[in-house]
Amino acid sequence: MEAVFTYRSRNAVETRAFAERLANLLQAGDVLALTGDLGAGKTTFTQGLATGLGIDDRVNSPTFTIIKEYQGRLPLYHMDVYRIGGSEDLGFEEYFAGDGVTVIEWPSMIKDQLPEELLWIEIESISPDEREFKLIPQGERYMHIYKEIRDEYSRD
Ligand code: ADP
Ligand code: MG
Repeated sequence: MEAVFTYRSRNAVETRAFAERLANLLQAGDVLALTGDLGAGKTTFTQGLATGLGIDDRVNSPTFTIIKEYQGRLPLYHMDVYRIGGSEDLGFEEYFAGDGVTVIEWPSMIKDQLPEELLWIEIESISPDEREFKLIPQGERYMHIYKEIRDEYSRD
């Protein structure tokens, strides 16, 4: 059976707070794949993640830069691969295996280059301000994160 944790956010502030809590569970080498339409909240979620990683810089959509790096408690590698061809290799492996946390917007564009194990996060718009986040762990490491966040929220 597939493990899925669902979180319903009521606004952008809640989305950032949710991501900030998730950031506390992350370590070097973790990879998060964010799916969802334009405006779903992938970048908003990444902003919360950055705050949780102790990053002070403002995180925005990397429009012309495909990969942006930020320094915090752990480095954050923020990728938006929407505009690249599927076979274009920008040295992703080194980021995935690096000292930081990698977040990928539009991961399906590079599906052949994704690591086998990652935390898949699907974002769906429910209303103008409501979003549903589905966390789907792939692999043991992400199963662990999934259980931690699930247990944290069940205690609230
Ligand atoms: P994406 O990166 O998926 O294209 P963005 O994060 O750039 O999306 O934009 C999401 C937009 O939706 C922002 O303007 C944000 O303020 C708004 N928004 C409204 N409600 C939410 C919510 N619950 N979670 C995240 N963003 C929300
Ligand atoms: Mg974005």
